[in-house]
This record gives sequence, C-alpha cells and structure tokens, in this order.
Amino acid sequence: MSLAAESPSLSSSSSDDFAAILDAELEFDSSEPFPDDDETNSVEEDDELHEQRNKKRKVEDFESSEGLQERVMLEKNLEKTGTSAESENPTDICPPHPGFFRGLCMRCGQLEEDDGSGVAFGYIHKDLKLGATEMDRLRGADLKKLLREKKLILILDLDHTLLNSTRLVDVSIEEDYLIRQADSTKDDPGRSLFRLDSIHMLTKLRPFIHDFLREASSMFDMYVYTMAERSYALEMVKLLDPGNVYFNSKVISQSDCTQRHQKGLDVVLGAESVAVILDDTEFVWQKHKENLIQMERYHFFSSSCRQFGFSIKSLSESMKDEMESDGALATILNVLKKSHQRFFDPELGIDLSSRDVRQVMKKIRQEILQGCKIVFSRVFPYKSRAEDQSIWKMAEQLGATCSTDVDSSVTHVVATDSGTEKARWAVQNKKFLVSPSWIEAANYRWNRQKEEDFTISTPRNN
Ligand SMILES: [Zn+2]
Repeated sequence: MSLAAESPSLSSSSSDDFAAILDAELEFDSSEPFPDDDETNSVEEDDELHEQRNKKRKVEDFESSEGLQERVMLEKNLEKTGTSAESENPTDICPPHPGFFRGLCMRCGQLEEDDGSGVAFGYIHKDLKLGATEMDRLRGADLKKLLREKKLILILDLDHTLLNSTRLVDVSIEEDYLIRQADSTKDDPGRSLFRLDSIHMLTKLRPFIHDFLREASSMFDMYVYTMAERSYALEMVKLLDPGNVYFNSKVISQSDCTQRHQKGLDVVLGAESVAVILDDTEFVWQKHKENLIQMERYHFFSSSCRQFGFSIKSLSESMKDEMESDGALATILNVLKKSHQRFFDPELGIDLSSRDVRQVMKKIRQEILQGCKIVFSRVFPYKSRAEDQSIWKMAEQLGATCSTDVDSSVTHVVATDSGTEKARWAVQNKKFLVSPSWIEAANYRWNRQKEEDFTISTPRNN
C-alpha cells in the first residue's frame, strides 16, 4: 500500500498523490500485487491489522485536514517554479482533469470548467468531484481488486429493506409497549429495536440482519444507498454496522443522487457488471433494473403500513415479526450466495472479466417457474394487451411460458374469480388455479410457491 497520502513526497506527481488518496479511501491496493497471497495467512493477519490502522488514519487525514488541496496547490507552485525535480508539465496530461477539489483540478490546479461530465462524490468528501476518465480508472481498479478477492458489489437500500423506522410521535397506542421494550433492552448487544431520541425515531432492524451482513460481506463489497437524508442514513449505519467493518465511507444518500427521485450507479465507483442492488422500490432504479433484486417491503410499524395505504394491523401491533430463518433477508441471502457461486464458477473458465452478474441473476430467475405454462383469466384491464402487463412480464422473467388460450399443455390458470370460463376449465382439467399473488410471491421469494397456498376460493389476507 502506498503511503503517499500520509507523507506526501514532493518528488511524486500530484496525480499520484490524488490517486493514492482515492485508492486509500476506496480501499484499493494501488500497488496491485500478484494474486499469490493465499498461503501467508498468519503474516497477512498482522498486515491486515496494520493496514486497517493506516487506512483509518488516512481517511481521518483526508476528512479532517485540508492537506489535499494544500498539496495540490503546493505542487502546482513547485512545478511552476521548476523546483520539483521530476514534475511533469501539467499541460501535457490535463485535460482531461481527473477531478476537482473545491473547484480546482486535483492535478493541475486549474479552475473547474463544467462540461457536465463530472460527478460529485460528496459521500467520499464533501468537496470532491470526479471526471469521467478518472471514474473509469477507479471502476477498473475496483473491478480488478474485487475479482482477485472473489467479491462482487452489493448495494443496500435502508428503509423497508434492512429496517423500518417510525417517528416517535406516530407510535400508536398499541405500539406503546415497544418504547418500554427499547428502553429495557438498551444494554443488550443483540437488540434490534432502538429509540433514537436525537432524531425522534424508533427503528426496528429486520430479523436476520446481522447474520445477513456478516455473510454477505464475505462475498460482496457493500454500500448503503438511500433516498433518505445523510444524517438519518449515518444514524442507521451506526445501528447496522456499529464496528464500522462493512460500509466505511460507502454510504450514499439523497444529496448524492444526480437525478431527482432516482438512484443511479453513476455515484458508485464500481462496475455495473458486478453490482447487485437490494431495494424494495423498483421505480427509483429505472436505469438499472437488471441489477435489482426487489425486496418484499418490511413494514414493522403501523405508521409504515398506513403510509403505504394498508389498513391491516402492522407486525408490531400484532406483536409479530418476520422469521429469522425464512424471512426476506435469509431468502435473499441464498439468492446472493447462488449468484456469487455461479459468477465465480471455475468451470466457466479463467477469464472473469467478461462475466456479468446481471446475466447470472437473469438465468437464476428464469429457473424459478421453468416448465410452467400460464393462462391468465380476466386479470388484465379490458382491451389491454396481455403481453404488456407487468404480471405477464414477471411470469416470463421467472421462466414461465404465457399464453392467452387454454390447451392441454397449460399447467396454471391465473385468475381472481373462480367463476370465469377458464377458471372452470382449469378445475375440470385438473390444472392449477391460482391467484396472481402466486407469481408475485415467486418473484419475491425466488422460489416456486405451493399452489395450494394461493387458491382463489380462500384468498390470502395479504
Ligand atoms: Zn487538471
């Protein structure tokens, strides 16, 4: 690991310094060693500890001091006066400017000219903006490092995916017991309910979250990505990652988004081909649907149910919760394991660089309803094109074949009313007759669900 960021050497060019600082911040090993360090475990552990400390110090330096800018300016002056022995002529390499710190190029010190291609990385440093070339370089370096470590990228939404929060004022009478519970378990390290007086919130972590994060971190480099405000995001990350081992500075929040009401991978310094996203809201990921695993929403509090228009009792009001063992996070962890395993399958050859986790996930999804031939009966609005309906597309993505007409090869009739002609045909011909939620459940749980749980005569409450 280069220590350039800690003890800036005047003989190195400022662009090297800049690269080293970013590399350190993003945990890249800029020296790019050969992938041979598998046998040196005991030594490695010491090194790792040492490196952790260095990294921490570097990040602190980076965050607390203005050293970066000073260094850029200092070297710029040195270069001008010719005092720096090996300095390159900045005009030979800039533009493109790699990035800007407080409006000045990190390499040549020139004032930022906004051509619209730069992206602000406020979550790395509040005054940092990177150019397209530099982003490509960092993504390339990150990809190499990840593949060497057999890791992919996991981007995690907070609300309704990993946890559920409610304002204290919105806690219902039936939920009052939770406040007492949060207070009485204050010193329990394994607790999942937190009263956060500083932000007037009550937060419930989703069951299985700690196992999930621990196991996922061995396969993925993880980011938090939320549409919430940064102060809230940081509070939540403290609960999820009290030892600061998973996310480091990789917490992306509302102010980092480059497009209103949209989340984008443009602010992630990792390759799209290895990025998996977990989010309960598909809409915000318009450009990256293939990277997305849509999560079943975690509504623990009653205010959360109300917010989404459900008039049913919340988990908290019924004094229930998702199961640890087969709740959403445990289910999705299995999908992540499978995706990771297939991505790095040694039988596919040694070239990892051309692999794409989006293709891997697409394939896994297509196996879920493989062999099912589905006919829909009065599920779609009158006169609409069946092929355009989201549930039709969903079934196809899950590997089913969809048809508008019944014949002997049909396996399932999907309907909401058991009295339709096709529904009666299904019963007469001993085909499965299920509600549309059979498909949705398969989509969320990544598994074909038992048809008898989705019959139409006894509709499920949820
Ligand atoms: Zn420049």
